[in-house]
Amino acid sequence: MRRFAMAVATYAGCGLFAQICAWLGFLPPWLPTWWCVGAAVVNTLFYLAIRSGYNLRLRDPSMTELQLVASMVAVMVLVYHADAARGALLMLFPVPLLFGVLRLRLLQMLRVGLVAVAGYAVVIVVLLVREPQRIELNLELVNLLSLSAVMVFVALMCAYISRVRVELSRSLAKIEDMAQMDALTGVFNRRHLDATLLLELQRWGRRSRSGLVLCMVDVDHFKQINDTYGHAVGDDVLVAVAQALGTSIRANDYLARFGGEEFVILLDMSSAEDWLTVCERARRQIEVLQIAAIDNTPVRISMGVALCAHGDTAATLLERADKALYRAKAEGRNCIRVAPESTAITAS
Ligand code: GH3
Ligand code: MG
Ligand code: MG
Repeated sequence: MRRFAMAVATYAGCGLFAQICAWLGFLPPWLPTWWCVGAAVVNTLFYLAIRSGYNLRLRDPSMTELQLVASMVAVMVLVYHADAARGALLMLFPVPLLFGVLRLRLLQMLRVGLVAVAGYAVVIVVLLVREPQRIELNLELVNLLSLSAVMVFVALMCAYISRVRVELSRSLAKIEDMAQMDALTGVFNRRHLDATLLLELQRWGRRSRSGLVLCMVDVDHFKQINDTYGHAVGDDVLVAVAQALGTSIRANDYLARFGGEEFVILLDMSSAEDWLTVCERARRQIEVLQIAAIDNTPVRISMGVALCAHGDTAATLLERADKALYRAKAEGRNCIRVAPESTAITAS
């Protein structure tokens, strides 16, 4: 819609230019008004196509190429009537092409450029046949050549800029992805967790959520795995643990790697399933993991859970969960402990 608004503004400017040409005697006086009416009709059609969602059915929902062709036809109408000012009006042709920078590939740009050049050739032929006194053929041929060269050049440059734009937006998406994902496990990283926690706490403060549960997960005796099988195998185990945690939580829950062999899960209390059931399922799912690289030795996790209470900040919530985790470790590992009360669910 923003690009569409820019296009409409350009049409308006062009309409004004046509009116000035008419005042100066280079266009028929009746033309600018009718030209503006035609432009308004065409743009209304494009507007309705976008507003009704019809454009979403097209291969290119922005309809850029179609809009460019329409504007080339609009310029052609002015060029046809311009006579002495025809050469000057040719300068309008590359303007719509610049919009292609925002969307089109080289082939599409060249296609639109070709429409302009072919259109101008048609204008010359029609004038030559119908009203030869209105044109000077050699001059028009020079104009045609010049227009072709400019259009090819503009199309090449625009397509190049368009490609750079696409590459830049891809790189940006990749950088954003890298900034928030953990490179090893593919789950969210600490940075994303910090931002998410702040947001969730704000939401919780506005009472738009029924509750917020933070679960700190730590792999038991992970150092032994590293020491026995090597760091690389340890990495594979972390990946497997992250995957298993990811599959055991629900769609609205959230998983991030806190650091090392520690993960944080944020549980959605509004879900019908009890959050403690989810914790227990996660613990169980890790325990039954079969990892050949560590001779199917069972991997176990301990969990410290904190339920967000009034006055909690991200730091205090994490700290309370961490303390509960510390208790889980102290009380035998492979279990879940809830802060602040000593509600304990020891694994069987
Ligand atoms: P506990 O049951 O008390 O948690 O014991 P632990 O051995 O799991 O805990 P500890 O803190 O002693 O050791 C954690 C180890 O995790 C030490 C560190 O080298 C290892 N570690 C941290 N990050 C990575 C990683 O990205 N890859 C691998 N392979 N190991 C890691
Ligand atoms: Mg640890
Ligand atoms: Mg550990």
